[in-house]
Amino acid sequence: MRTARLFVDNLPETTGELVLSERNHHYLSRVLRVRTGHPLALFNGQGLTATAVVSTVEKRQTTVDIQTTALDEDNRLPVTLALSLIKSDRFDWALQKATELGVSRIVPIISRFTDSPPKNDRLEKKEAHWREIVVNACEQSGHNWLPEIGPVTHFEDLELDGKQAVFAHPGVTSSPLDPSEPCWLIIGPEGGFHPDEVEALMKKQVKPMALGPRILRAETAALVGLTLLAKDYGQFS
Ligand code: SAM
Repeated sequence: MRTARLFVDNLPETTGELVLSERNHHYLSRVLRVRTGHPLALFNGQGLTATAVVSTVEKRQTTVDIQTTALDEDNRLPVTLALSLIKSDRFDWALQKATELGVSRIVPIISRFTDSPPKNDRLEKKEAHWREIVVNACEQSGHNWLPEIGPVTHFEDLELDGKQAVFAHPGVTSSPLDPSEPCWLIIGPEGGFHPDEVEALMKKQVKPMALGPRILRAETAALVGLTLLAKDYGQFS
């Protein structure tokens, strides 16, 4: 029997019975069709993990028996990805892959050349959708720490909190980062950064980052940038 891995945001620190959310009930009872005794690995996205078994599967709810709990150290990549909004399916893909690579936070950016930014009245729905993507990516990849998402930020309002930062831009030469400190990685939209935005970034001491001799799509650039940074931060050793 394969252990099912589930995100449980109200995971208790103690052992005992827990009634699962409707989402998890649906997944276990309708998708996996589990029975009593099925082994589970639970996590709350903040490092708390648990082993459990299914105790009852009823029509409207599934109850589990938590048997052990533990705290997992935060091993996220110390990078905040500021990714300009691009077509939804591509942005979703980048979110999923950035989560698999362990990014700490993803800030969707609206920059000068962003096409059709989300309307305010659709933002809440969009944010819930993005959260579901990162939850699924953590469930699948065995990662016990969810990245934070948001808020959606206009390029000119981007606050770097005194952290070092790089922006990926075709045709530049990379400057080195201090791998003992966290950083921001800023990626432009399909139309790239406007020259005024490049100038503003340089004024804020944001360092340029090269991603090779070809022009990458924004979602590819995000992944390549994160992978290079993950190597600098020793995540592949
Ligand atoms: N014509 C646009 C330009 O010249 O900036 C192309 C934009 S590219 C499709 C989208 C984003 O991916 C860029 O703004 C940049 O952040 C990143 N990017 C793509 N290829 C890159 C490269 N070779 N080096 C650095 N960044 C790159």
